[in-house]
Amino acid sequence: MNVRFWGVRGTLPCPSTKFMKFGGNTSCVEVQVDDQPVVFDAGTGIRPLGSDYLARDVRKATLLLTHTHWDHIHGFPFFAPAFDPKRSFRVMAGHLSKTLGGIRSALAGQMSEPLFPVPLEVMAAKLDFDDFKAGDTFLLRRGLRVRTAPLNHPNGATGYRLEHGGRSVCYVTDTEHVRGQFDANILGLIEGADLVIYDSTYTDAEFPKYVGWGHSTWEEGVRLCRAAGAKRLALFHHDPSRDDAAVAAIERKAKKVWKNVFAAREGTTIRV
Ligand SMILES: [Zn+2]
Ligand SMILES: [Zn+2]
Repeated sequence: MNVRFWGVRGTLPCPSTKFMKFGGNTSCVEVQVDDQPVVFDAGTGIRPLGSDYLARDVRKATLLLTHTHWDHIHGFPFFAPAFDPKRSFRVMAGHLSKTLGGIRSALAGQMSEPLFPVPLEVMAAKLDFDDFKAGDTFLLRRGLRVRTAPLNHPNGATGYRLEHGGRSVCYVTDTEHVRGQFDANILGLIEGADLVIYDSTYTDAEFPKYVGWGHSTWEEGVRLCRAAGAKRLALFHHDPSRDDAAVAAIERKAKKVWKNVFAAREGTTIRV
């Protein structure tokens, strides 16, 4: 599997020259697996991903959404391939109960007046919307298994583990930990994983100020990965106030604690 980072920020895009090295687009990570990729989240990073799909004529993909806060869906209306009738996309989420109307209704709400001029119905691709319950395990197709877990985040969120050909990639954002206590759901999800992409919005030093905001720290990511025997950790969902120098400083510090850590960088691909 190839894991490509199209957007690594949390909260808000930050398009400034001081953010170019790690990138300013919000959450979007593509896992290239055979000819049908899997895409985690639809932050603004999905816009350049969409251009790439048009250029390479990628016609099918599955979008696995952690949740529907803006920074994870605000690129969706600008995902150009979804307007092309020759293509088909499956959109899945695990945090919306049927009473909330499910994922289709949440995305349609984002694309309705007076918030947005083009309704979801204008997207001419074949779109399938599936709601599952965070914690479920399912096959996307033969040999491509998805395990999920509920995360600790306001309004809910889902963590993912994708397994293919004996390798595994986990995408765990947005989630808040409890200090001194591992989240058993996450520990189980990331056990022995080849790559864990983890919510590293804050540092442990900053964390007490942000309890209840629904995010975690790079230090907790390291602790979790070590406890779960995971092989590599990508720090992700960088805070929009952290410029390149600040993210690089965190990466340096993290590497001293555990050499298998790196800070996710927009535009890079990791082979798993
Ligand atoms: Zn977020
Ligand atoms: Zn969120």
